[in-house]
Amino acid sequence: MVSRRKLLSSASMLALIPVANLIPTTVFAATNVDLSNASAVALKYVENATDAQRTDKMGTAGADQVCDNCRFYTVDAGNSARGGCVLFQNQLVAGKGWCAGWVPTA
Ligand code: SF4
Repeated sequence: MVSRRKLLSSASMLALIPVANLIPTTVFAATNVDLSNASAVALKYVENATDAQRTDKMGTAGADQVCDNCRFYTVDAGNSARGGCVLFQNQLVAGKGWCAGWVPTA
């Protein structure tokens, strides 16, 4: 049986693990985003950005916004047309795609 003191100590140690260490740094995505996925629908994700009504955002014209130049996009070394996205974990988005979560790179 684990003592209360030991349990509390273990829990406090977990709090010391930086959240950044829990975020994967490589793309493990295997499948393309399912367009019927609730997140994809809510974020209005499209495979071809020209199919979306994009408005100017953060100083970038809507017409210039694509996944390729989004802060959340991660290039997949084995696939030049698709990559990972922080908003769609374990899935691949199209480099020429777009969603309402688009944010310019820093
Ligand atoms: S967050 Fe960025 S990279 Fe992800 S789907 Fe939306 S536009 Fe593309």
